Amino acid sequence: MSIKETDRRYVAGTYARFPVEIVAGKGSLVYDETGKEYIDLTSGIGVTSFGVSDDVWVKAVTDQIGKVQHMSNLYYTEPCAYLAEALCSRTGMKKVFFSNSGAEANECAIKVARKYQAEHKGADCFEIVTLKNSFHGRTLTTLAATGQEHYHELFRPLTPGFSHAEAGNMEELKAICHEKNVAAVMIEIIQGEGGVVPLDAGYLADLQAFVREKDLLLVVDEVQTGNGRTGALYAYMNYGLEPDIVSTAKGLAGGLPLGATLLSEKVQHTLGFGDHGSTFGGNPVSCAAALSIVNRIDEKLLAEVRQKSDYLFRTFLGAPGVADVTGLGLMIGIKPKEKTAGEVVKACIAKGVLCLTAKDKVRLLPALNIPTDVLKKGAAVILEELA
Ligand SMILES: *Cc1c(COP(=O)(O)O)cnc(C)c1O
Repeated sequence: MSIKETDRRYVAGTYARFPVEIVAGKGSLVYDETGKEYIDLTSGIGVTSFGVSDDVWVKAVTDQIGKVQHMSNLYYTEPCAYLAEALCSRTGMKKVFFSNSGAEANECAIKVARKYQAEHKGADCFEIVTLKNSFHGRTLTTLAATGQEHYHELFRPLTPGFSHAEAGNMEELKAICHEKNVAAVMIEIIQGEGGVVPLDAGYLADLQAFVREKDLLLVVDEVQTGNGRTGALYAYMNYGLEPDIVSTAKGLAGGLPLGATLLSEKVQHTLGFGDHGSTFGGNPVSCAAALSIVNRIDEKLLAEVRQKSDYLFRTFLGAPGVADVTGLGLMIGIKPKEKTAGEVVKACIAKGVLCLTAKDKVRLLPALNIPTDVLKKGAAVILEELA
């Protein structure tokens, strides 16, 4: 049997995979089993921040694997401590809880929000407002947080205590907060899976003022937008927000599983011994990888992300076959005029360019360090297919 047949026979059928088997890669170029080269504008859905098999990343990972790959959270290890220190010093947050994925980082954020408000406003202050069209993960609680009905349908009952407000509609959010005992508001700065839909700056400012006034916690899900993706270390920084809790994962460790929940001064002491845990969370190899990634997301790299972003907007805005371009940094959504996003992605694969879809958009999440000439070549192919 071929790899594709074996996979289809034995792997649970949750993914509609493209008929491509990737066997190797370097940076933003990957290769299939026949040796065909592809320009990768997906970075594993925003995960391989510095591309595939990047030398600095490989060295950080292999050095740590050669020392100790796992010790459990019963003992101290250096990468976990140094990564937490780096994340706090770069964000002004005070403490970090490490897990293994975006959904888990959000689970932790939700637990912290509930416990904090139970202690400050009482046990019936647990409702969390998220936005319609949001995506927060696949566990039963983060599915409940996800404001898209079609993800819920087959899996009820979901965790209670979640309400969904229309993105950009402060009145609806205020009405929910009037009606229910709300503990926190949880948002993505750009709805990624929802179609690369950025929230309006004015709405974000109003939301920040409102949560302050009502003493609600502001939780920002930076699983996809974080770690340099939008041209700032975290997307909330583009808008001067002061979230109480930030969750992140995807690009944090550059291709190894790691989630992080960053806790501000206000909630830094909410979790105590035994309140939460994760066997693999804070794994030294993942943390060593992440430390190497975070240390490389400096002002120079972020400026390059913004330049490449400008290039993509200039290239696609108003181009033949393009209805709209949305996003920030290297998180870009292109809405085709006539073709479907799926058709464009499929045609691009045939021509050796990998990109993603998000709802009705072609979504680009290239590696942060994608060479400009590679990006231009990839964009030219997409342009051709959109026209
Ligand atoms: C991908 C994503 C998640 C879920 O992350 P997993 O690592 O798949 O659990 C949560 N929130 C957002 C915004 C995401 O993009």
